[in-house]
Amino acid sequence: MASMRRPLVAGNWKMNGLRADGVARAAALAAKAAAGAAECDIVLCPPATLITEIAAALAPAEGRLMLSGQDCAPAPGGAFTGDISAPMLADAGCKFVIVGHSERRAGHGESDAVVRAKAEAAVTAGLVPIVCVGETDTERDAGRALDVVAAQLAGSLPKAAGSALVVAYEPVWAIGTGRTPTTAEVAEVHAFIRDRLAATPGIAAAAVRVLYGGSVKPDNAARLFAVEGVDGGLVGGASLNINDFWTICLSCGRGRRRDARG
Ligand code: PEP
Repeated sequence: MASMRRPLVAGNWKMNGLRADGVARAAALAAKAAAGAAECDIVLCPPATLITEIAAALAPAEGRLMLSGQDCAPAPGGAFTGDISAPMLADAGCKFVIVGHSERRAGHGESDAVVRAKAEAAVTAGLVPIVCVGETDTERDAGRALDVVAAQLAGSLPKAAGSALVVAYEPVWAIGTGRTPTTAEVAEVHAFIRDRLAATPGIAAAAVRVLYGGSVKPDNAARLFAVEGVDGGLVGGASLNINDFWTICLSCGRGRRRDARG
């Protein structure tokens, strides 16, 4: 049976976009969203420098598009040069923030404890953290994918988040590579994550959306979004092309209608 959770598609621009092209891209997305509603929540995760201007550019879409940070600091403010706090993101117009993306876990040495502290800072600031988890190819090949995801969930989910939580399953080997897991692999990990959420005190598991991320493209999005237990996607590279991203957003609804019939 299809779930009652409204699907969500988030576009993570990473460290891409200057004012001219970033704002134009956001305005193009707003025009599409204003002209025809998708059957999912749509969240844009631009670089922090563009959030305020993009918030204005999204106004024509009348609330159909939301904003997210790509990371936040564990502390609400203070002497942390270069960091951006969760209250700052909320103040700039964000409703969500990605934490624990593999590019931060691997590239910035962020431990589960750091990711949890960031997620809790987000919840305290009224943001919904999008907590990323996922195994490397070595870990999958060693048969450890579920163990790795279990440990990341146990160590990095915010305590007492209630329903203010999104989890993104992003196999590291699928991010930016053009490789994607099989339908069976995605279904297995999503069912596993759902079980772990249900067993975690302080989390309203039934309301938490679990996204798939890793090389989602227009030609594979419907297949991935139709997998049992997938509540949408976290999209990197393809979110920089607004036609592709919008196609992906539209296939989220289409995929779930097929799921509901099946
Ligand atoms: C990501 O950065 O979270 C991601 C999934 O990237 P891509 O879609 O490019 O694989």
